[in-house]
Amino acid sequence: MNNATKQNSFDVIIIGSGTCGATLAKELTKQGKKVLILEQGGNQVLKETFSGIAPIANEVPVASNMKALRAITTGGSTALYFAVSKMPPLDTFMSLGIDLYDELEEVKRELPLIDFPDELLTPQSIRLRQSMGELGYNCKKNLIMLDRSKCTSGYSYDAKWKAKVFVEEAVRAGATLTNQAKVTKILVENKEAIGVEYKIKSNVFKAYGAKIVLAAGSIASPKILRDSGIQDVVNRGFYCKPGFLMFGIVPGLKGRESFVGSMGAEFEDGAELGDTNMSSTLFKMLMLQNFKLLNLNGHAKTICMGVMLHDSMSGELKENGTFNKRLTDDEIKKFKKGEEAAKRILKNAGAKSIFKGGISASAPGGVIRINEHVDSTLQTKFRNLYVCDASLLSEDMKVTPTLTLVCLSKYLAKHLFSSIKGEKSPREIVEKEFNQ
Ligand SMILES: Cc1cc2nc3c(=O)[nH]c(=O)nc-3n(C[C@H](O)[C@H](O)[C@H](O)COP(=O)(O)OP(=O)(O)OC[C@H]3O[C@@H](n4cnc5c(N)ncnc54)[C@H](O)[C@@H]3O)c2cc1C
Repeated sequence: MNNATKQNSFDVIIIGSGTCGATLAKELTKQGKKVLILEQGGNQVLKETFSGIAPIANEVPVASNMKALRAITTGGSTALYFAVSKMPPLDTFMSLGIDLYDELEEVKRELPLIDFPDELLTPQSIRLRQSMGELGYNCKKNLIMLDRSKCTSGYSYDAKWKAKVFVEEAVRAGATLTNQAKVTKILVENKEAIGVEYKIKSNVFKAYGAKIVLAAGSIASPKILRDSGIQDVVNRGFYCKPGFLMFGIVPGLKGRESFVGSMGAEFEDGAELGDTNMSSTLFKMLMLQNFKLLNLNGHAKTICMGVMLHDSMSGELKENGTFNKRLTDDEIKKFKKGEEAAKRILKNAGAKSIFKGGISASAPGGVIRINEHVDSTLQTKFRNLYVCDASLLSEDMKVTPTLTLVCLSKYLAKHLFSSIKGEKSPREIVEKEFNQ
């Protein structure tokens, strides 16, 4: 604690300001804790335009020919996400000793969680749903985190809930947000985390905290843990939900700007088909990425659907911090079947020309394990070092993660609040020294 000063000492240091970091910051600040949020990205205004997305989008290889997308900015990946939601797997968490029932009830009151509204279904989504129904698929509507009042003229990027609002709330209540601050290491003394080392440009800084929470997302957190002395993360491989998009051009269709993910259907064990119609900006970006320049302005006449696999746990985190895995033959077969099914659906919907987009993946999951790398309070083997982000979602939690992660972060915030209450925080120790 030698270098701790009143200025660089906090009750809680949170690494990352995505879904989990933002929720923790908001909850702990509300309880009067002195919180520092260290965020690697900037704090720009979030916009769904080419110039808004380019500086924050970051693609990271996770498997052969597959990259996962994340956002590096205040609010993390919710800056780019679709806001589609599924209920948290409460029973799975309960079996791990984590009761999220109360947190879910709180979140339902606080977040704009609604059934995907029928009025927001666009002609592309309606045609897709009809076609899937005709071919016998049991389409289920999704939940979405959406402020309906901001959708008066249909699609609105701003209507989707984003973690940035929680960061802003925390900052208004007194939290310190430091942007462009990349945490490289947790400072550990006698098996106890006491602070973090971070870089802003090439300058190295240190901050000290009674509790440190690693919430840097599943792409970054495993490497930070390894570099800090917890070696055995990613010891069972990872899943990355690989998927691809299929596009069908339907002459005469008068499509509109769409929210992604109105509904989906299980295709066969471990594979899903879903509505991935989108806004025209995202559509243009995808056409450019897939070299479909002739269809750059074809948003209104194109139906888009997604094929996604629940892949098995395999692969590794290499020394340099990159992930790598190969799909099994069985998974490749499922992908082919999914492609055939999507072609049938799009043809039945009236598509005259059908093409496939590139394969991509989600951020790796199952990489830090509850009751193995962290206990049921999410504490690692180093006292006062916690992990709370999508790294903790194991392969049997088949959910879109955000809603679950908000609940999990609230759960940890309650635990941290009650455990800090009984201890002297570095702030109190430092203040005492200053006052003597
Ligand atoms: C295109 C897209 C669509 C998605 N759609 C959905 C959806 O519809 N529904 C859903 O539930 N989920 C969706 N997701 C996933 C969801 O956004 C993430 O699972 C969730 O936000 C993860 O939260 P997190 O707190 O674990 O990490 P993140 O939100 O990724 O936040 C991690 C933060 O940590 C910062 N960071 C990383 N390393 C460091 C470091 N060394 N030092 C300091 N800061 C660091 C990052 O910049 C980032 O801000 C989508 C994701 C993407 C990319």
